[in-house]
Amino acid sequence: MTTGVAILGSTGSIGRSTLEVLSRQREHFHLVALTAHSNSELLEKQVAEWHPKFAGLVNSGRGDVGTLGIRRGAGTGCLVEAATHPDVRIVVNGIVGAAGLEATLAALRAGKRVALANKETLVMAGELVLQAAQQGGGEIVPVDSEHSAVLQCIAGRGPGTLARLILTASGGPFRTWPVERAAAATVAEALQHPTWKMGKKITVDSATLVNKALEVIEAHFLFGLGYQQVDVVVHPQSIVHAFTEFVDGSVLAQLGFPNMELPILYALTHPQRVPDAGTRRFDPVAAGALTFEPVDPERFPAYGLGRTAAAAGGTAPAVFNAANEVAVELFLDERIPFGRVAEVIDRTLAEHRPSRADSLAGVLEADGWARRFAGEVACS
Ligand code: NAD
Ligand code: MG
Repeated sequence: MTTGVAILGSTGSIGRSTLEVLSRQREHFHLVALTAHSNSELLEKQVAEWHPKFAGLVNSGRGDVGTLGIRRGAGTGCLVEAATHPDVRIVVNGIVGAAGLEATLAALRAGKRVALANKETLVMAGELVLQAAQQGGGEIVPVDSEHSAVLQCIAGRGPGTLARLILTASGGPFRTWPVERAAAATVAEALQHPTWKMGKKITVDSATLVNKALEVIEAHFLFGLGYQQVDVVVHPQSIVHAFTEFVDGSVLAQLGFPNMELPILYALTHPQRVPDAGTRRFDPVAAGALTFEPVDPERFPAYGLGRTAAAAGGTAPAVFNAANEVAVELFLDERIPFGRVAEVIDRTLAEHRPSRADSLAGVLEADGWARRFAGEVACS
């Protein structure tokens, strides 16, 4: 019997990489469900090739069942339907942004493993996500390469042995640019990531280092560490994905050429490993010199804002995330310059009075407020 997999966001970068992995691992996994937002053409191609039992397109069509049995215009309900399908054991959540939250909660409550790329979900509602897993017997396994690295380093070790994490950040395309020049960078320049090929939103988040702040919060919830135990270092080559320090001072790291197929495969097979010849084998000589530098707070102000929001806790991380989503979208639409992304987040956080993040209604209210406020700030 092979394990049933659902992919939410199958037309995106993570979704497509997951299909690549599955195509090499047919003896272990079969595809049960796919969802996409609006790329109907690619979803149709995927369905024609994979014949999943369920396919849903959130935002295109008239709410009917169209070609190849694809549920069209199905709204966000189709995400939950795919995530809780009885034949699914593992849900790969490759949705970008807050839109992935409901499906993650539903999958965990239904006892599924969620292979989580959609880090925004944990940032917004980490407590609720952990609760859902506890209630339903579900399990969260990270896809994010840094967190996968940590999980691979700690697998099999007792709780209480972990002392500190050091997540690596590439520093993005503007690491060495004069700050004023980066503030006026074009969308094309921001999308030129030096080491990873990813969706647009996370690529911009890597240029501002918001991505790393989101990952610090993600690590806090995944591994139960305080924020003072999660450090970040800039590592332009993206070869070391994270360092894991244990209570005796020993440090393990996980390395590899940047490629998401490996962490995706590990999220499917954890704690086991299976043979896979799909990714480039590591070669230290080809990797070359590895360098590390501290995060420059002046160059990356949004990173500091994220850490401040993390320390404030409650609804502050959700507000940080929502303000960033709005600002990044406006930047990608060329309606605000790159340099204003951090300012929009800053002003939104400054206006927010955090409350507890222990109910979905409370989290969604904070998220909605932050989106409205950030939109107004950006347009003023
Ligand atoms: P992407 O833009 O390439 O793909 C996003 C996918 O989500 C698409 O399939 C789209 O159809 C779907 N989607 C978008 N909005 C939606 C909505 N409102 N409702 C339902 N579906 C929606 O993004 P990506 O680079 O694949 O990133 C996806 C997630 O994975 C993000 O949270 C990102 O931070 C995380 N992640 C990505 C990478 C990477 O290498 N791409 C690495 C680590 C983490
Ligand atoms: Mg990452």
